[in-house]
Amino acid sequence: MTDMTNFQHPEQYRQRFFIENSPVRGDVVRLTDAYQTVIAKKEYPTAIKALLGEMLVAASLLIGTLKINGRLSVQLQSSDEDSPLSWAMAECDHTGQVRALAGFKHTDDWQTATTSRQAFAKLGQGVLFISIHPERGEAYQGIVERVSDDLAECLAHYQKQSAQIPTLLKLATSDEVAGGILVQLLPQTDEDRENDPDLWERMSALTGTIKADELTELHADEILYRLYHEEEVAIPEASELAFGCTCSAEKSEGAILQLGHEEALNALDAHGGVLALDCGFCGESYQFDERKINELFV
Ligand SMILES: [Zn+2]
Repeated sequence: MTDMTNFQHPEQYRQRFFIENSPVRGDVVRLTDAYQTVIAKKEYPTAIKALLGEMLVAASLLIGTLKINGRLSVQLQSSDEDSPLSWAMAECDHTGQVRALAGFKHTDDWQTATTSRQAFAKLGQGVLFISIHPERGEAYQGIVERVSDDLAECLAHYQKQSAQIPTLLKLATSDEVAGGILVQLLPQTDEDRENDPDLWERMSALTGTIKADELTELHADEILYRLYHEEEVAIPEASELAFGCTCSAEKSEGAILQLGHEEALNALDAHGGVLALDCGFCGESYQFDERKINELFV
């Protein structure tokens, strides 16, 4: 194992790693404040907090596998009106800004649910998908096959099927921390295969030994040492992650303009003279009175 005595990391990060002289690379993600900020925005049931934490980590890991400027979101959308979980989404952009939000019904169903798997199952009929929004170029959406109610399993399966890249993915949350690890086998040369024929088998077995509480309690260097201390692991500088929202006054004005002048004034009337557009992600409230609305439509 490479010397990591000088390992430095921010509080919340995505930490890339490579197994030296091999086509294996991966990332470890750790979120603290960002995760806590997200789950404090609504009175979420315990199981949804766990699911949102895993989705945040998944989005942060998956965007690390792409070379794009833009954002990636992991989304769940129910097509069943009665399901307790209506939708959920988490996204991360190339600067490391993350945010997440879920829509759910306050039902007794949630009382006995504590795990992300249980929350996922409560989507009922519906889809899991990944959206990629590059700053330039077309957005892309991929439907992820629900091979189980385990988000990590579904996403790893998707990477293997769609990108043809064998992928290991583990996600976990505690009350305060959301963490995870992604490991990928990039295309191998014949020489790679001859040099180390059981590389992927070995990486899979080692990675499979990580426990959920280790993913939330340990830092990346400790996780990587714990798993791969017999391998040569290279660890470049970590990328910082933080909670951040993409809402803005301009976007709210755009939404009012979409309504049209008359409709906007009607809505204003219905709301007692102040129209407030609240952002569910960050809690920011964009307020419009009659003067502001009239100015927009000049
Ligand atoms: Zn916002």
